[in-house]
Amino acid sequence: MPLSPVLPTFADVEAAASRLAGTVHRTPMLTSGTLDRDTGVHFFFKCENLQRAGAFKFRGACHALARLTERQRRAGVVAFSSGNHAQAVALAAQLAGLHAVVVMPGDAPPAKLAATRGYGAEVVLYDRYADDREQIASELARDKGYTLIPPFDHPDVIAGQGTAALELLQDAGPLDAIFTPLGGGGLLSGTALAARALMPQCRVYGVEPEAGDDGRRSFRSGALVRIDAPRTIADGAQTQQLGRYTFPIILQNVTDIVLASDDELVACMRFFAERMKLVVEPTGCLGLAAARRMRHELAGARVGVIISGGNIDLCSLAALQRHKDASWA
Ligand SMILES: *Cc1c(COP(=O)(O)O)cnc(C)c1O
Repeated sequence: MPLSPVLPTFADVEAAASRLAGTVHRTPMLTSGTLDRDTGVHFFFKCENLQRAGAFKFRGACHALARLTERQRRAGVVAFSSGNHAQAVALAAQLAGLHAVVVMPGDAPPAKLAATRGYGAEVVLYDRYADDREQIASELARDKGYTLIPPFDHPDVIAGQGTAALELLQDAGPLDAIFTPLGGGGLLSGTALAARALMPQCRVYGVEPEAGDDGRRSFRSGALVRIDAPRTIADGAQTQQLGRYTFPIILQNVTDIVLASDDELVACMRFFAERMKLVVEPTGCLGLAAARRMRHELAGARVGVIISGGNIDLCSLAALQRHKDASWA
């Protein structure tokens, strides 16, 4: 592996957009007059909760598969994930007509196992406490010739994720700031590439759960920080560190990394459901939660927010609302 990886650029995001046209949904951009009046900020929401398979991850997965060689396509792909990346790779592979194996924990929610199998993937189960999923996936890759599709740290995945912000910037017009959830940084680095190229003055913020601020510490210190898997309801952002590709792009192109609490996420879920009729998973609420916290310094600004996903079942959504004080504080 090279010491300094060749980083994707905005040209790669644009190329991804043309490869993905017709396969990914151009998701709607929505606004809320009530929220704008309450906060004094003009918000533009990119609704990736309405993307195919329920999250922006479908963009990166489709793009990575579109870039495979004929030989790689014939052999098939492997991914490890208990979350949205699993379903994204499964659906993308089904549409592209290739075989996908997804390595998932045996205690993953039955609905997620069923969804992944429903998209035609072969699911290989592992024991979360005894097995190393990365090792299982790399052994499968080696023994069967599968190509590993990583969830965030890959140039084609980053370029694919950047197409969501590209569409938002095209649809919203000039923006002063854009807020994006942050896990391993695929979505944020793609967003930053698009924003830097199309709107150089636009501030770009990544948002992490308070319980897992490795990205913020890495960003502020300039050295990659690794943490234990954080305890948060934002399960799409329970990553332990940024990647070899995502970290340098974030360092160069992002304004700051800010935080949101689980209680703020619950309040945002309620707002999205009741006022905007949107089902948004906790991780998908990170952007609004942080922008709302910063509303005084954002007064009068035009602010883009990426709603990254909507995969939560109704019982869990209701339980979160019951167990937390779900009002805006
Ligand atoms: C994966 C995921 C994220 C985090 O994306 P990264 O590219 O890992 O930073 C945020 N929200 C949702 C809904 C996700 O599935």
